[in-house]
Amino acid sequence: MFGRAPKKSDNTKYYEVLGVPKNASQDDLKKAYRKAAIKNHPDKGGDPEKFKELAQAYEVLNDPEKREIYDEYGEDALKEGMGGGGGGGGHDPFDIFQSFFGGSPFGGGGGGSSRGRRQRRGEDVINPLKVSLEDLYNGTSRKLSLSRNVLCAKCKGKGSKSGASMKCSGCQGSGMKVSIRHLGPSMIQQMQHACNDCKGTGETINDKDRCPQCKGDKVVQEKKVLEVHVEKGMLNGQKITFTGDADEAPDTVTGDLIFVLQQKEHPKFKRKGDDLYVEHTLNITEALCGFQFILTHLDNRQLLIKSQPGEVVKPDEFKAINDEGMPMYQRPFMRGKLYIHFTVEFPDSLSPGQCKGIEAVLPPKASIKMSDMELDECEETTLHDVNIEEELRRKQEQQAQEAYEEDEDDNMPGGAQRVQCAQQ
Ligand SMILES: [Zn+2]
Ligand SMILES: [Zn+2]
Repeated sequence: MFGRAPKKSDNTKYYEVLGVPKNASQDDLKKAYRKAAIKNHPDKGGDPEKFKELAQAYEVLNDPEKREIYDEYGEDALKEGMGGGGGGGGHDPFDIFQSFFGGSPFGGGGGGSSRGRRQRRGEDVINPLKVSLEDLYNGTSRKLSLSRNVLCAKCKGKGSKSGASMKCSGCQGSGMKVSIRHLGPSMIQQMQHACNDCKGTGETINDKDRCPQCKGDKVVQEKKVLEVHVEKGMLNGQKITFTGDADEAPDTVTGDLIFVLQQKEHPKFKRKGDDLYVEHTLNITEALCGFQFILTHLDNRQLLIKSQPGEVVKPDEFKAINDEGMPMYQRPFMRGKLYIHFTVEFPDSLSPGQCKGIEAVLPPKASIKMSDMELDECEETTLHDVNIEEELRRKQEQQAQEAYEEDEDDNMPGGAQRVQCAQQ
């Protein structure tokens, strides 16, 4: 597979780490890893090195292809094979743990992949922040009043007057409870969840010892006024992060407070990246003989927009004004383009007199001239007005209905006939 001389090297270590025989099934591996990972999780006082080793062993053996390589050539072959080099070949063991359990029961949710962290990380608090396109064009700042949990100052987050706490009896201090579900005669599912009695902390506080300020909750609510700066050129969906401003909790790295910009639709301007788009309708005379109009920009400047002398604008044509698009984020002096999409309104009908006048100045008709004899040989037709979209939609519906009815009539038991129909 690797074009290298097979070298018998250590290919048992991973099995030993997980404590399974070399012929262990995938299921056995999974069970062994689950048990060992819970026991050795650093958040539960386990050895981080051992935990990492477990994750690495499981990552390899759980992948049939990697397992085959490992069985044949050992650990070194995998490192070469993966091409990751020395530092590679490894995901964060916490990531594997999380994917294994669908979210770590120990950490407070939120991601982060700082290697070997001991403290759990609090969840990020994410809030949408509605802004207008004007706000994103000009920049703005918002004062927001928010409340969040902070560690109780009176007990310094201990929850008790004495600073002491007792082991939770509900979970024997582990903060976790395991429930077992029977899925079948020989199948069980183990479910981990945070202990309700102690909210996963593993400890409780004696009623008499409770801190009078926080009533043993360890945290109190604090109101805070925040100023969120929306900078020129920020994008819809962009995040503004206040690091460490989420809810505080004991023994927890406080998560971030994040605002996600949500731009409201603008009645006139559409934004695409750094560019702006605006619709403008010209009547036929303006399209042919020139136009000018005033466009109020997002910062209330009045732009005079006009055609060049003799210029004709065709229906559906785009024109652009440089440097009148959105300011670029963190380079607000640079701007995108402002595109104008023109629609040309034609008159619904013209009188014969009007036609004569127009024909006199416009290029001659392209229609062929025909003799009476030639005309006699043709069949006359009538052009009707149609709403083409509406008609196409109705036809599609009709086809679907017919196909359905055909299907109903089809009494063939197998799908053979249907397949044939589909191929026609
Ligand atoms: Zn508990
Ligand atoms: Zn307190």
